Amino acid sequence: MNYALENARIHAERMGERKAVKQALAEHGIVAKVGHGRGTASSWIDVQILNKPEGKHINGDEPYAFCRPDCPMCAAFREQWGKAMVIARNASGRSHWTEDCICVGWA
Ligand SMILES: [Zn+2]
Repeated sequence: MNYALENARIHAERMGERKAVKQALAEHGIVAKVGHGRGTASSWIDVQILNKPEGKHINGDEPYAFCRPDCPMCAAFREQWGKAMVIARNASGRSHWTEDCICVGWA
């Protein structure tokens, strides 16, 4: 195998994937940094949303994980996360995120 050629192919494929995912997210109003993981996670798509939902959590400044299930702010985060995940999955052509490794978070 020509490793230089194979590495160039993988690089080009990942750059194309990043661009496609970033553009699809933007078309749906989600501004994000899109990259890939490093090392053993290099096949992962890493989406970091920049325009996170605005507002206050019911529990004030408590971290997300310790907020309440009925918090509208938490609901907005969950909704944006789900939307970004579906868009990233579709735009990348990856079929199943638990197998094909897409990570969505907020920068
Ligand atoms: Zn909350």
